[in-house]
Amino acid sequence: MTIGVLGGGQLGRMMAIAGVALGQRFVFLDPGAESSAGHVGNLRVGAYDDEERLSELARKSDVVTYEFENVPVGSARFLNELVRVYPPPRALEVSQDRLDEKRFFASLGIPTAGFAPVATNDDLEKAVATLGLPAVLKTRRFGYDGKGQWVLRTREDVENAWEALGAASLVLEAFVPFEREMSILAVRSKTGETRFYPLVENEHRGGILRVSYPKSDAWTPELQARAEAHAGRVLAELDYVGVLAIELFITGGELVANEMAPRVHNSGHWTIEGAETSQFENHVRAILGMPLGSTRMVGYSAMINAIGKLPPRDEVLAIEGAHLHAYAKHEAPGRKVGHVTVRAESKRELCDKIEALLPIVDPEGSPRPCR
Ligand code: AMP
Repeated sequence: MTIGVLGGGQLGRMMAIAGVALGQRFVFLDPGAESSAGHVGNLRVGAYDDEERLSELARKSDVVTYEFENVPVGSARFLNELVRVYPPPRALEVSQDRLDEKRFFASLGIPTAGFAPVATNDDLEKAVATLGLPAVLKTRRFGYDGKGQWVLRTREDVENAWEALGAASLVLEAFVPFEREMSILAVRSKTGETRFYPLVENEHRGGILRVSYPKSDAWTPELQARAEAHAGRVLAELDYVGVLAIELFITGGELVANEMAPRVHNSGHWTIEGAETSQFENHVRAILGMPLGSTRMVGYSAMINAIGKLPPRDEVLAIEGAHLHAYAKHEAPGRKVGHVTVRAESKRELCDKIEALLPIVDPEGSPRPCR
């Protein structure tokens, strides 16, 4: 089979690395000629809304998926007339708009932060009066890695934010005083078979994911069951096929949904070495209708992102159980250029290895306790 992928970044690259092992071929569409997935599949360079390129992708592919959630929904729908597109374009549509996404969660009984749409200064004033301060003002569309959002703490912040952002479609969210951030990754196959990975705890800095700890010390079977129930409802409602990630806050023992991504996710990279079957392999299995693989953890693991710069390769590889993934991207501040997954046989050993790796892979982060 040939799998067509909208987007040619590291997620597509890792999907192909997994899918090629299953005997599949990949063709990517990305506007960038240097895209990192081009090393592991056929890269077609073109805009996501170029119908000629999209038609070509459909002709070459048995099924199309995406690795980037800001591809135009119109393009996914256009393709869906020509070839099977998974996850369904509606999942893409819901996840592209923070307001629709919050309404969608709420309609399924999944808790979210209080929220209100903001289109005018008057809306903003009313929303602040209802939700209180602090609050988080976000653009409805095209936000990622903490971009397009502002925390409002004072009256002055409210006025400044309106001056800076007034033209965009916005949503105001109540500030969630969360204790931890987690994500649940789920996978559902064309056949309806569904599996969930263990909840992952995620540590962000500057709006960017830095470290993921699957089944951290905050994990409980109750939280896992609740997260699976939430994700299960999303999968069912969307008749979803593929890997889905939902980012959650834990606050006062409750899980509050922040956002979802209809694709493989950075907080699932640990699964390449740390789970019986990686998120990438399971995504490929799901969209082709193959039996899904076990999502069981293999030992203990954690993932550290390399942001802006790759770590010194041999120093990483000299640490037993450490696995380096380099995305073949140009280094630039704030850019995800690789990650390291470390695996161990005990939690204690894992924490020792994380402590050794953090100064090498995330040198700007301060030392912090292992989770
Ligand atoms: P997002 O772009 O929605 O994923 O937000 C990026 C990060 O901002 C999240 O991972 C949180 O750390 C923080 N954040 C977003 N929304 C809220 C909120 N309503 N309350 C508190 N922190 C938030």
